[in-house]
Amino acid sequence: MLTRELIARLPKAELHVHLDGSLRPETLIELSRAAKAPLPSSDPGDIRRFMRVDHAHNLEEFLKKFDTTIAVLQTPEAIERVAYAITSATSRCATVLTSARRAASPSTRPSRPSCAGSGVVSRTSA
Ligand SMILES: [Zn+2]
Repeated sequence: MLTRELIARLPKAELHVHLDGSLRPETLIELSRAAKAPLPSSDPGDIRRFMRVDHAHNLEEFLKKFDTTIAVLQTPEAIERVAYAITSATSRCATVLTSARRAASPSTRPSRPSCAGSGVVSRTSA
């Protein structure tokens, strides 16, 4: 019988996750300080609400939130930190393969992210 417990234990693959869309509020706050990219608040709850998109009128409006995360993902150390956090989180859910990517134009000037960016693939043991 297929139960929630069985599903939780089954190996999984995360085939498409964006680094720039997967930062925890606490991480975003810390990286924003290091990158000197100010946020509207230093409270994780405020940042969670700030980053949430409930009523985007179009894709451009939805993707505008990536400007904030792209601004802090400008160093190899910041990118490595977020990639590690993603693979750590997915491995706790029995994910054995994670393919993460970042925006195609990750310059210091925020731009529209796309799926054509560089990727990070991580394999973890089951
Ligand atoms: Zn994508």
